[in-house]
Amino acid sequence: MKSLQGKVAAVTGAASGIGKEIALALANAGAAVAVADLNPKGADAVADDIARGGGKALAVTMDVTSEDSVNRGMDTIADALGTIDILVSNAGIQIVNPIESYLFADWKKMQAIHLDGAFLTTRAALKHMYRGDRGGSVIYIGSVHSHEASPLKSAYVTAKHGLLGLARVLAMEGAAHNVRSYVVCPGFVKTPLVEKQIPEQARELGISEDEVVREVMLGRTVDGMFTTADDVARTVLFLSAFPTAALTGQSFVVSHGWFMK
Ligand code: NAD
Repeated sequence: MKSLQGKVAAVTGAASGIGKEIALALANAGAAVAVADLNPKGADAVADDIARGGGKALAVTMDVTSEDSVNRGMDTIADALGTIDILVSNAGIQIVNPIESYLFADWKKMQAIHLDGAFLTTRAALKHMYRGDRGGSVIYIGSVHSHEASPLKSAYVTAKHGLLGLARVLAMEGAAHNVRSYVVCPGFVKTPLVEKQIPEQARELGISEDEVVREVMLGRTVDGMFTTADDVARTVLFLSAFPTAALTGQSFVVSHGWFMK
């Protein structure tokens, strides 16, 4: 039997990059997967991919910054697929700028997507996970920047550090209801989010794009390699299927050696 047979997973930001790979991996492991994203066409395409591979999927248009959209979306998922056993809070964006010129509107947008989104989706999922103490797993996609700082990323580093706090409180509150929480913290993964940053960082730091990749992004890995979406998806899968609360509240750095603790 597959490790997630009979389970229902909701993955936010699942139309692209890391979230897409996680959705495919959870579906391969037997879970019915809700592909939740702001981008309806992208979500449909991933859900179709899963269905073509013989899995069960539902595309849901969801803006994780909107209380209404999240509550409606999560209830739609539970109605269509039965419940929610696994939440992967992954939707995210990046805006880089030095603090002195960081727009307040950009700061608020970053906190809204990363932190409001994590809170709102968690609260909506717990309604289903707490029912009869059936339990579940909530996995936040943090970053090495949940533990480390980098210039130009004030809003991102702040938000990603914040996820550690939310996960730790959830580990405590959720224990009585068999709910576990985790933060998965990737190094740089070559997704659209990172492709966009390479020229932006080169401009801001006054170095070449090659240097951004070699020094800023991969300089502190042990092998000069990008983390892959597959590296992250395998970690999420392992945590989703973990049978006890031994690992709850912890963060897991997936980064080819960048930041060891
Ligand atoms: P991506 O740009 O490839 O995908 C992000 C997805 O989130 C997109 O499909 C987008 O439509 C969706 N999204 C954006 N705003 C949304 C909203 N308000 N509501 C719902 N969906 C929304 O990015 P990615 O690189 O796959 O990043 C996914 C997560 O991984 C993010 O939280 C990011 O911070 C984190 N992360 C990425 C890297 C990396 O190097 N790529 C490293 C560490 C952590």
